[in-house]
Amino acid sequence: MELKNKHILVVGMARTGVSVARFLAGRGARVSATDMHDETALAGVVAELEGLDIRWTLGRHDEADFLGSDLIVVSPGVPMDHPLLAKAATSGIEIVSEIELASRLITAPLVAITGTNGKTTTTTLIGEIFKGNGFTTYVGGNIGDPLIELVESGQPAERVVAEISSFQLEWISSFRPQVAALLNLSEDHLDRYASYQEYIDAKLRIFENQTGNDYAVVNRDDALVWKSAQGLKARLIPFSRKQELEEGIFHRDGVITFRHNGHEENFPTDAIRLQGVHNLENIMAALACTLLLGCSPEASIAVARDFESLHHRMEFVRKFKGVGYYEDSKATNVGSVEKALESFDNITLIAGGKDKGGSYAPLVALVQERVRHLILIGEAADRMQLELGSLTDTHRAATLEEAVWLASKITASGGTVLMSPACSSFDMFKDYEERAQRFITAVKGL
Ligand code: ADP
Repeated sequence: MELKNKHILVVGMARTGVSVARFLAGRGARVSATDMHDETALAGVVAELEGLDIRWTLGRHDEADFLGSDLIVVSPGVPMDHPLLAKAATSGIEIVSEIELASRLITAPLVAITGTNGKTTTTTLIGEIFKGNGFTTYVGGNIGDPLIELVESGQPAERVVAEISSFQLEWISSFRPQVAALLNLSEDHLDRYASYQEYIDAKLRIFENQTGNDYAVVNRDDALVWKSAQGLKARLIPFSRKQELEEGIFHRDGVITFRHNGHEENFPTDAIRLQGVHNLENIMAALACTLLLGCSPEASIAVARDFESLHHRMEFVRKFKGVGYYEDSKATNVGSVEKALESFDNITLIAGGKDKGGSYAPLVALVQERVRHLILIGEAADRMQLELGSLTDTHRAATLEEAVWLASKITASGGTVLMSPACSSFDMFKDYEERAQRFITAVKGL
């Protein structure tokens, strides 16, 4: 791909935009960078790229930058329907996302993971399995380092694993992973998409350029995923914890079985450390992705067995007066909370935060069945109270600390206090990590 002397505009100068601009400048492109945040907000970014020949338009976008470009690279935070992008597209200017650009230049087999939940856990596990099989592996995308940094570094990589969000798939045209996995689908990001269908369609684009030589690893138990997978060009490798499969990977009676091309491998699950039904799904997806790309069954299950939960994903904090406290700050949508509720009984659930516009109805049956006490916080509390408040003993708390204190008063020994918010954190906290730390501190202070 010829980049030298091309006029290239990078739109959105957060983490991904910075990596893209640096890469393009290094390849001799004439780089312009633009962002709606101004010089003061982006002082750190400008300083990071100091010394590179980049033309900045900050605090605004300039139509001439868009229309005068040979290529536009859009960062994941930029709305797809931005009028200047539409104008540029109409004028025939090529617009790509960072993963599109990077994948054109990556030669190693690429595994791409998407879904509403479980992406980070599964992507990380796949990276560990490849490494455990002796492959030089790059793990990136939506977690950690953007893919373009691999290309820029010139490091050799035998396998590449990328976590892919729906936003990154918005501007692809030839992005083609050898193995693409869709873990699950549930409502999320309705603050960004016009409809649930639009969000689903964005995610399904991960399979768009695959051919009959590639693989699509899909959740057989998720009706929407399975329906969406019909008619894909790639070879289907379903995973299921509910049914036996002729081709694919499934769990039954403590054994995971992988069946592919008439071969079968069996993996006992008893020594696996990851807890929860959802993690069984993540492990099956990860095993399928890696076994399809040259990993050995023995080395792969050895890594999967020892893999520990990532922070802030249903993490155990402490036992106090016979009550277990768990922190699931990363559960920012109903799909992830459903899995957390399925994993415990006698729950005091602390939920709420910044509402993303979806329905809480998928939680109704589980709240009725398993949630003894519900404590609501944040902006979403009113709406959650309306949809769930009549199902169980429901309280409101002004702060997370008050919620933890109240939970400790009302939860009987043998119960579980679970913070699994079903919302993002930005109403009361900097991010989900700060929310997690505040919960942990409050619980340790009891
Ligand atoms: P993502 O990167 O897609 O946000 P994470 O691995 O960071 O996924 O997990 C986010 C949240 O979803 C956590 O609360 C976690 O416990 C939950 N989770 C993890 N895997 C799954 C899954 N397969 N299905 C539903 N929820 C999951």
